[in-house]
Parts: sequence; C-alpha cells; structure tokens
Amino acid sequence: MQPSIFKLPGIGPKTSQKLAKLGIFTDIDLLNHIPTRYIDFSHTTTISTADLNQNLTITGKINSFNNIYTRYGKNIQKAIVSDTTGKISLIWFNQPYLAQSLKVGDTYKFAGKISEYQGAKTIIAPQFGDHNTGKIIPIYPETHGLSSKWFRKIISQNISQLLPQIIENLPNSIIKKYKLMPLDLAYSEVHLPTKEKLLQKARQRLAIQELLSLQSYSLIQKQKWSLNQPLHTLKISPSISQKIKKLIDSLPFKLTTSQVKVWHQTLKDLVNPDTPGNRLIQGDVGSGKTIIALLATYFTSLNKFLTIYLAPTEILAKQHYQTFNSILTKHPQIRIKLLTSSNKITDKDLKNTDILICTHAVLFRSSTLAQKIGLLIIDEQHKFGVKQRSRLTDPLHPPHTITMTATPIPRTISLTYLGNLSLSTIDQLPSGRLPVKTFLVPNSKKSQCYQWIKTEIKKNHVQSYIVCPFIEESDINLEVKAATQEFEFLSQNIFPDLKLALIHGKTKNSQDLIEKFKNKKIDILVTTPIIEVGIDIPNSTIMIIQSAERFGLAQLHQLRGRVGRGSTQSYCYLFTQSIDPKTLNRLKFFQQHPSGSDIAEYDLSLRGPGEIFSELQHGHPSLKLADLQNSQLIETSQQILKDITRQNPKFNLSQLLNPHLSKQLKISSLTSLAQN
Ligand code: ADP
Ligand code: MG
Repeated sequence: MQPSIFKLPGIGPKTSQKLAKLGIFTDIDLLNHIPTRYIDFSHTTTISTADLNQNLTITGKINSFNNIYTRYGKNIQKAIVSDTTGKISLIWFNQPYLAQSLKVGDTYKFAGKISEYQGAKTIIAPQFGDHNTGKIIPIYPETHGLSSKWFRKIISQNISQLLPQIIENLPNSIIKKYKLMPLDLAYSEVHLPTKEKLLQKARQRLAIQELLSLQSYSLIQKQKWSLNQPLHTLKISPSISQKIKKLIDSLPFKLTTSQVKVWHQTLKDLVNPDTPGNRLIQGDVGSGKTIIALLATYFTSLNKFLTIYLAPTEILAKQHYQTFNSILTKHPQIRIKLLTSSNKITDKDLKNTDILICTHAVLFRSSTLAQKIGLLIIDEQHKFGVKQRSRLTDPLHPPHTITMTATPIPRTISLTYLGNLSLSTIDQLPSGRLPVKTFLVPNSKKSQCYQWIKTEIKKNHVQSYIVCPFIEESDINLEVKAATQEFEFLSQNIFPDLKLALIHGKTKNSQDLIEKFKNKKIDILVTTPIIEVGIDIPNSTIMIIQSAERFGLAQLHQLRGRVGRGSTQSYCYLFTQSIDPKTLNRLKFFQQHPSGSDIAEYDLSLRGPGEIFSELQHGHPSLKLADLQNSQLIETSQQILKDITRQNPKFNLSQLLNPHLSKQLKISSLTSLAQN
C-alpha cells in the first residue's frame, strides 16, 4: 500500500491507516472524498415554531441531562432543552460519553427532525456543534472510527489550506462559455455547501470533471496508439482488390448494405500505413459479423501476413474453422489452422500458417507468433478477460486489431470509455430473417409445449436446442449432474422416439456431437449454457431455455440468437416457475422485444451501467458524481473536450485527469477493449 502524505495537521499514523481503507492517502484524495448525500439543516427556528417532521436547527439551553440504563443493558441519553419560546426533548442511544460534551446550563445548536415521543416534541439523535447544524451538511462514505462528523470537522477546519492545492485545469473561456463553477469553488461548495443551487452547480462541475478525466484518458490512449506504426503494412493492389471482389461474389449470399459499409470501414484501417487499426464491430446476434472477419483475414493473407482469430470457446473456434475452410475452399494456398487445447499443433506448423483460428490456448504460444501477426481478431470480446490480449501483442508494435461483440454498447458508454476505438455497427439483419417468436411457458403448459415441438420436428424436419438451467456459482459438477438427469428424463419420458444428445462442460466428444447435430443426425441437443455464444446451425429453429429466470437478459438474447439464423420461422420458449412479478416483467419484456439494442437499453435501465460494463471500468474507481445514463452531461463534456482541443491543439490533456483517477490508472490501465 502506498504511504500517506498529508500536509494537514492533526492526521496521525492511526488516522491515516483508517483513511487508507477509504483510498485516501493525500490532501487531494481527501478533497475527492465526495459526500454521497446531504441533509439540509439550514432552516433555523425557535422551539415553539418547530414543525413536526422537518429537518431544522434550534438553539437552546440544556436544562437537564440524564443517562438512563434500560433493562436490556442498553442506555439512553435524554436532555431537556429550552429557549424563550418552549421546551423540547433530545434523545440519543448508547452514547454515554455525550455527558462530557454537553454541559447543563450551556447553550448549543441542535439539528434533526422533530417528532413526537411520549407526548412531547422530541429530536431523536440530534446533531450538534457548528459543523453539523444550521446549514446543509454532507454525509460521507464512512469507515470504522471515521464518521461523517469527523470528515466535516477536518475538512471545514482545513479548507483554507486545502483549496489552494486545487489548480483550475480548464481555460477561462471554457468556464465562461459553459457557465461552469471554478474548480476550487466547486470543491468548497461540495464539502461546505452554502446554498442548494450552488451545491448543484458544484456537483455538476465535478461530474463533468470526472467525465473529462475518463474521456481525456481515452484520447491520450488513442494518441499514443496512433503514434505506433502497424506491425506490418498491408496494401491493396488492383489484383488483390479483384480477388476480394471475386470472393464476395462467390459467397452463398449477398452482403447486406450494412456489411458492405462495415467492410469498407475495416479495410480502410487495414491499409493505413501510419496507424494500427483498432476497431470494434458491433452487430446483433446473427447480423453476420463472421464474414467481415473472414474478408479482413483473406485480405491479410493475400498480403502474406498471419491473422489470429481468437474465439472464446473451442466449439466456436471449430465452427469458424469449418466456415473459413468452406468459403476459402478454392484457395488451398491459404493455410488455415486450428489451435485449441485439444487440437495442439507444432511450432513448425504454426510457422506455416496464414490464418490461425484459435482459443486462448494460443496465448501460450505467443512467442512463436508475435512477429508475424498482421491482424488480430477477437470474437465475442466480452467473453475474454481483461489481461489476456495484452499477452499476445507487443504494445509498441501492435498489429491491426478488430474486436467483435453482439452486446450493444450505449453511446454514452462508448463516448466515455471507448473514445480510443473506432466503432462500426452492423445495424441490419440479412434479408428474409423473421423475428424469433418468443413465449413464456409456465409449468402447467410445459407438456403441451413438448408435444408441439415433437410434432414440429417430425413434420418440418427442424431441430431444437434445450438449454438446461444455469447453475449459480458455476459449479461445473452440479451443472453436469443436473443436465445429465434432465437429458435422461427427456430422452426416456418425453421424446423417446427422437434422437437426443447431451453436451456439457465435461463432454469429451462435443465436437462430434455438434457435427452430427449440424448434419441433422440429432433432433434435439440438450445442453448447458456453453452454447451461449456464436454457434450457427440455421436448421435448428427451436430453442427451449429452462429456468429462464436464472439468466441475465443479455445472456438470454445470446441464447435466443442461436435460432432464427435462416429464413424459417423460429421459436424460443422460456420455461419458468418464477411467480415474482419483477422477474416475470423482465421475461415479458424479453418476449416482446426481438432486437438486441432494445434489450440492452432496458437492461441498462434495470441494472445500471456499472454492473453491466464493470469490465470496462476495470481500473477506474467507480464514478462518484457523474451518472452514465445522463447523456446530456456526457455530451456536454464531450463538447468541452472538443472545444479545448480545437482552441489549442497542444493542450496537455493529462492535466484533465482527475488526480484521484489518474493515480489508479497508473496502476492498471483500461485494457479490456482499449489496447494498452
Ligand atoms: P454473428 O453476427 O452473430 O456472428 P454470423 O456471422 O454467425 O452472425 O452469421 C449468421 C448467419 O447468417 C450465418 O449462417 C451466415 O452465413 C449468415 N449470413 C451472414 N451474412 C449474410 C447475408 N448477407 N445474407 C444472408 N445470410 C447471411
Ligand atoms: Mg459470431
């Protein structure tokens, strides 16, 4: 842990240890210890005019003070206080030491909410003392031994020493244009509020400060990234251009307008000799991201460089491997290899590869590869850990990089956290796709549903997935056991005349089973949620999700995305025994909304961005003031940043990094999507 350095008097070693628990090591950290809420005690009144249930402050003389011990070993402190207009009782619990601070006969200010107790006007647990009464008082995040009271006292006693340490970091013109409160004043007002209105302005200024800090961090990363040259330069010659056109023409389908747009954006990155591309391709499940990856890969291999295509699961890697082989079947000179933990290849083989499709098993072979990589593609990036990709590439000479995700990232989040990435969106599904019909199936309708599926499979020769419950704590043994039982039950009792297979985390021959399923030798694939991402078997048009309530909305959407991948009407059945109205509402929303972006937005409103994008926030302390759903604030800070850099292209962005934030950023930078 870092040593504490306080210039303030009165913070000894014991206190600094306690402060360290709250992440406070310096005076500036102390100023950045932002109150979570406030109570307004600024209304002062006489005792007789003090209204019930109002927060207010009175001034009165202590007539009596008693420590009362109750039968249960608790104790109560009771004081009677009066002014010229009347009397009031004050009650505290378990604070016998109060007798030392409150002297009978002396006059104090007391603040709190007036209630009626045993027939008398009473304030329960009133605050007293100058820092805690007669004004708006801040409530701080506390730790054992450091109460809000303590923070109020230390900050108000030292404010004149603390504020000069705050240096305004925005140009005057910007402060004027956006009517911002000066930074030192904002800190003062946040800790020692004078007026509600000013407090709001102060919090707005500091919220903008937080956002500017994140956004400039992204920008700095982007600038750093653009100073690099790509590890290898790729070129588009007329002959290469011709070959790509030919490949596109040979595809079994016509690219959607959106795919064409995204492909051109991607290609532009790849041929830029000055800067390595760093692009995130978003597109709903089934929108056709793989083909963009394939074109980029083909282009890279025509340039005689290696592409690494990283997939989150072995099943998915194998599927991509097959897709690539079949689409590039007329190009045997392009050597496509598969590397997973169960499909190991030799160093020599690795050296003779143009396209390496792999799982994270590749990370252990990075030394053999690093120099050859022209392009790195990461599929379903949200499935990868933060640190993994940095092991693969040299931060000083990164290859072109493409990440792909089906989880739509709200604009506010991408502006704040991902400003260093170029963003492409495939916002269109291939034509002829029908929205998946989704139904909530209560227990009583289960067998009816099974019957319907049986008929449908026999009549229309379609196939089905049945996803077994997700087991919390991801205990794989439990999950396997539950899935095995369910599989036996379904094969014996429900579908004895159909062919079923089971895949779970411990299935050894899952590749074979997937293969058989693909070749229609299996009617129903019973599986644990391991098929969640990427699997593409268009003839499978029915999806049952058991105990649907256990899945998050994004996961449900991914699962549902396994069907509806062709032009046949597909169906998704959500089994649930839940009767909790909140859960049912969530599932009903899912039932009524086929689009991933609607679902993401709803999810965001339910859970908040912190939880969903925790990965992106890695290394950032959570935001204290700014609300990531407040798009207006985010746009404003974005605009401010633009204005600043336009006015002065040489403006040193690092001065916008919140000192509190920047300290953390040094320890661990934002590496999930933003390459470092
Ligand atoms: P995702 O974006 O979820 O990764 P995929 O790339 O797996 O989607 O594509 C889903 C399915 O759609 C695949 O079977 C693919 O062959 C098919 N596909 C992709 N692009 C088109 C298109 N333009 N027209 C018709 N089908 C397409
Ligand atoms: Mg995919």
